[in-house]
Amino acid sequence: MSNDKYDVIIGLEIHVQTNTKSKMFCNCPTGYFQKEPNTQVCPVCLGLPGALPLPNKRAIELCILMGLATNCNIADEIYFDRKHYFYPDLPKGYQISQYKRPICSDGYVDLDNEVRIEIERIHQEEDVAKSTHHIEKNTNKEYSLIDYNKSGVPLIEIVTKPCIRSAKDAKDFATKIRQIARYLGISDADMEKGQMRCEPNISVQEKGKWEYKDGKILPIGEYRLNAKVEVKNIGSITAVEKSIEYEVERLIEEIENGKEIVQQTRGWNADKGVTEFQRSKETADDYRYMPEPDIPVIQVSKDDIDRISKEMIELPHEKVKRYMDNWGISKYSAEVISSTIENARYFEKLQEVLARSLNEKDAAIEASNWLMGTVYAIGNLDIDINDLAVLILAFKDGILTKNKAEEVLKDCIENSKDISDEVENIKKEKENTSGNIDTIIKEVLGKNEKAVNDYLNGKEASLGFLVGQVMQFTKGTANPNDVRDILIKELKK
Ligand code: ZN
Ligand code: MN
Repeated sequence: MSNDKYDVIIGLEIHVQTNTKSKMFCNCPTGYFQKEPNTQVCPVCLGLPGALPLPNKRAIELCILMGLATNCNIADEIYFDRKHYFYPDLPKGYQISQYKRPICSDGYVDLDNEVRIEIERIHQEEDVAKSTHHIEKNTNKEYSLIDYNKSGVPLIEIVTKPCIRSAKDAKDFATKIRQIARYLGISDADMEKGQMRCEPNISVQEKGKWEYKDGKILPIGEYRLNAKVEVKNIGSITAVEKSIEYEVERLIEEIENGKEIVQQTRGWNADKGVTEFQRSKETADDYRYMPEPDIPVIQVSKDDIDRISKEMIELPHEKVKRYMDNWGISKYSAEVISSTIENARYFEKLQEVLARSLNEKDAAIEASNWLMGTVYAIGNLDIDINDLAVLILAFKDGILTKNKAEEVLKDCIENSKDISDEVENIKKEKENTSGNIDTIIKEVLGKNEKAVNDYLNGKEASLGFLVGQVMQFTKGTANPNDVRDILIKELKK
């Protein structure tokens, strides 16, 4: 990217379907995935004349919860507006959304690199139906089908200020939003299923010729700002970054070739890895926003906020900080562990169980090491936490080596053996051999005269060989450090 001459300016709009049982303005179920088309519809979500919308309280609570998690101001009155556009997937001819007064405004999210992404607003709206386009085999006639099961599913739209300066930050912000939505049960935010959709708007401006003020990009002096483009159809977090990188290159090339950028909407073609022109962009006026007359103003009380706040849990960035500050976990490990609520819960529970036998910090470090080094590699969070703790403590007590412990763990998972039973067996075996350890060492020394002489003649490596021999006799149950110490003592006699 030839960024020595241009700055990249990105704003992001993210739509997230929220987890509710029923749709935004009717009682139809929201779970439309793989359902028979047009089986979850009613006059409201079909937009039939005379049908009246009734707002979904839970959806609004989840919108507020997202606002609280992203440091937004929460409005004490909720207004809905009609956003008009004509498209077959929008049966009423308008979407019920929010215009001037969103529920949540002026928030922010801090990225791991400490860049602050400012959120302009989070508003509540409804999803549209799903169109699919087909060609009839015999006649080659094109036709479209519409499934209204998705029509009216609750959506929140998160809009950032144009404060993002790199494709990577845009991607990281989208990742944070997805993480928060999942942590708080606001949404599963599965992008493949369309539960979360990202639409970046991008412009490039000459360095030093613009400024960022009050959430806006303003030209300096005579400079004319280049128009921005908006990219749609982004189906994954990686595609957020890729589509922006592609678009930045394209915009710079256009400008360098003396072409004027027209404000436009483009689609991301994931197969080709390119953006494609769709249409020149409507302005806000085109939507003919007007207040929704069928929904009265909704009051949000302090009690409402208090009740919703109870659903707030410790968020990933707070966990990272606590793991680092209280327990000395590395930033990287803390981030991986807290990346999903499932990982974080498992870690915290394991720490808690280990802390019954170890001090709090050691318990955390062991839990972190074992998750990062072993459990995530196995990819199995079904391992019983108490069993795993037994294994870890057996390792800490020197009953088995790390390698041996990992071997036991894998064996138990693959062959559905009980970890605690296995550790118990190893303990017994070890007790038997430890009484015999001196005998075993004497036997090994007797059998390996050459290695003994080599060691005595200064060949240090022979010691390793002898330790290995003893370990083999004890089936890996002895502590190799202890064996090494005893061997040295014996050899010096
Ligand atoms: Zn309905
Ligand atoms: Mn929207």
